[in-house]
Amino acid sequence: MTDLTNLGVAAIRDGFRAGDFTAREVATAFNDAVAGAKALNTFIVETPDHALAAADQADKDRAAGTLKPLSGVPIGMKDLFCTKGVQTTAASHILEGFIPQYESTVSSNLWAAGAGMLGKLNMDQFAMGSSNETSAFGNVISPWRAKGSNRDLVPGGSSGGTSSAIAARLCPAATGTDTGGSIRQPAAFTGISGIKPTYGRCSRWGVIAFASSLDQAGPMAHDVRDCAIMLESMASFDPKDSTSLNLPVPNWEAALSSDLRGKRVGIPKEYRMDGMDPEIEALWQQGIAWMKDAGAEIVDVSLPHTKYALPAYYIIAPAECSSNLARYDGVRYGLRDLPDGAGLQDMYAATRAAGFGDEVKRRILIGTYVLSAGFYDAYFTQAAKVRTLIAQDFEKAFASCDLLLAPTTPTAAFSPGEQSDNPIAMYLNDVFSVPASLAGLPAMSVPGGVNKDGLPLGLQIIGKALDEQSVLNAGLAIEQRAGFTARAEKWW
Ligand code: GLN
Repeated sequence: MTDLTNLGVAAIRDGFRAGDFTAREVATAFNDAVAGAKALNTFIVETPDHALAAADQADKDRAAGTLKPLSGVPIGMKDLFCTKGVQTTAASHILEGFIPQYESTVSSNLWAAGAGMLGKLNMDQFAMGSSNETSAFGNVISPWRAKGSNRDLVPGGSSGGTSSAIAARLCPAATGTDTGGSIRQPAAFTGISGIKPTYGRCSRWGVIAFASSLDQAGPMAHDVRDCAIMLESMASFDPKDSTSLNLPVPNWEAALSSDLRGKRVGIPKEYRMDGMDPEIEALWQQGIAWMKDAGAEIVDVSLPHTKYALPAYYIIAPAECSSNLARYDGVRYGLRDLPDGAGLQDMYAATRAAGFGDEVKRRILIGTYVLSAGFYDAYFTQAAKVRTLIAQDFEKAFASCDLLLAPTTPTAAFSPGEQSDNPIAMYLNDVFSVPASLAGLPAMSVPGGVNKDGLPLGLQIIGKALDEQSVLNAGLAIEQRAGFTARAEKWW
């Protein structure tokens, strides 16, 4: 039999329906892969029994003719999603041992669609980071290596367990979350696809909060079709999330088309940065040629406030995180550090000092500062205004085009330790991804090619609010032309 772990979501779904293999065979193949590739440190908790139980149910459903959209498909779940009865930590020591009593809406949608869970995926702590070096459960390693090199590489972040596990074929697809780039940047670093839908498409209920006005769940998978299939099951209106969009979920997969005739693709000139890596620039030009070849018209557009996006994000996201993370105080969840004879304040301080990692503390300190009475107007109010200007830039650009094309990241994957002592260098990883997050727009990364070292590079497509379909279709047009066949080596 072919190696089932080489298959993506559509191939598993369709092969299972056609009777080529059982769901149990699929789940077993992926469970074995997960168990064998521990060196990558992609999973915090493995849940082989969950995957097998869903598979057995799928096999029964197939016999009974009651198949669901994801019957037979095992997936990974980023550890930011609360899963009932299964430890959920956001990769933080402060939540170690926390077993939710409830299921997040996104994960429960996926289980209702028939998917099974292979485990909880490692990530940057509280989704803060771009390299998966801030997890309390250790770094995640990418399965990729530069040509002729044995050095470890980062899988991107914060959804780095997700990207590494998919690239290493430990799961055919998995959930990610994107606050400022955490789906797109790790997808780009590992040669896979990922889409952040319009803010509000996927419920935030049961997703551990980082920056609530930015956080958005989305799928990561081998290709565009698999992302469309996953997103259809993940998205829903949820009355439990006040920012959830009360709109029907489109049938994105059925409407996939790489024919871009009649579409105008904007090239934002401000994304052409001084000192840009020539390989990234060449990839972008190649992407433009592919868009034309697919029938699109190319137009130059301007997003004049782009250079303020990163500074505004690094005020808004920490501000919201400092407020969201105030709940971890040793009283209700996870860790409690209660030194002998300590009072309540001492317990708060000791618990938070012991429970949060350095990057999380840095964000809480920055966030508390920019929200403080003396500085609120100087920082938070200004950043909020900049955010509006950035959203308006996109609105104006979309008057003359339907989509935007840009690189996903300024560089290919780097090695652990290369940027971790320089937070500003690390923050620059998100320079191309943060603007769409601030504006709440759908955005996707698809593999465009490899650099001279054989490492993946991603192209990013940004769409109008609610127009995931055009984003996916443009992604498909790139995918078909890029012919991206490079694979990371197997680790088990
Ligand atoms: N890397 C960015 C940060 O550290 C984005 C993270 C994310 O999207 N969750 O904030």
